[in-house]
Amino acid sequence: MRWQGRRESSNVEDRRGASGGGGFRGKGGGIVGLLIILVGAYFGVDLSGLVDASNISSGQSYQSSLNSQEEQQLNSFSRVVLADTEVAWEQYFGKSGQRYTPPTMVLYNYATQTSCGTGQAAMGPFYCPNDQRVYLDLSFYKDMSSKLKASGDTAFAYVIAHEVGHHVQNLLGILPKVQQAQQRSGSQAAANQLSVKLELQADCFAGIWGHYADKNGILESGDLEEAFNAAEAVGDDRLQKQSQGYAVPDSFTHGTSAQRLAWFQRGLQSGDIKQCNPFG
Ligand SMILES: [Zn+2]
Repeated sequence: MRWQGRRESSNVEDRRGASGGGGFRGKGGGIVGLLIILVGAYFGVDLSGLVDASNISSGQSYQSSLNSQEEQQLNSFSRVVLADTEVAWEQYFGKSGQRYTPPTMVLYNYATQTSCGTGQAAMGPFYCPNDQRVYLDLSFYKDMSSKLKASGDTAFAYVIAHEVGHHVQNLLGILPKVQQAQQRSGSQAAANQLSVKLELQADCFAGIWGHYADKNGILESGDLEEAFNAAEAVGDDRLQKQSQGYAVPDSFTHGTSAQRLAWFQRGLQSGDIKQCNPFG
């Protein structure tokens, strides 16, 4: 991706280096509980099956797996991607005379407090609708290539654009509507199906960022393939097979690899939010 020297978003809250996790370790023995504390947040990638809880409860002080140069580059890169999503969505909302209120991106290490509960880096990037923030631990870049086999800057950009997609769903009133429908649905399988639709729409919205990036010469050759690979890498079927050896379709919350790729491509090719309606 062409990102160096380009505009960085100022809608960033930098909590890196703050001991966000430290305060939760003292009492109650370990912080394994963090994994289930976060409620109502929306994830790009459900890593819960791939997380090694023994790592988390060890109480060791957290060391970033990135060296300082990697950390600095990813910091700039994420801010540029966020700025691009701002322009893409400002244009979109502007067309219908509406104003786009961008989310704030919180950079943190290991764990941090959110209005959805305690955020945990081990679960991957997420969006909390209560405080309209996207939470990102930059070391997820490494997890993507090592655990998910999705490497490259555009793969990382896709994940950021997906979380911003959840923010757009929030602005459009889709998140609260779907949440109500889930509560009424009466079965876990039905609630999961609604969750899948929500996630596929966020993938399609990420594709709208891709459409903008492609049109404006930000993407280089091979970049789209990186994003396609990332969308497939975070499919429920693939993640479940990877963590437990088999897939259970009723438990899917994000969609299969094929679905995630298809909806991302739909947004990418059309650049049109009307094409992003998995709810039918
Ligand atoms: Zn998501």
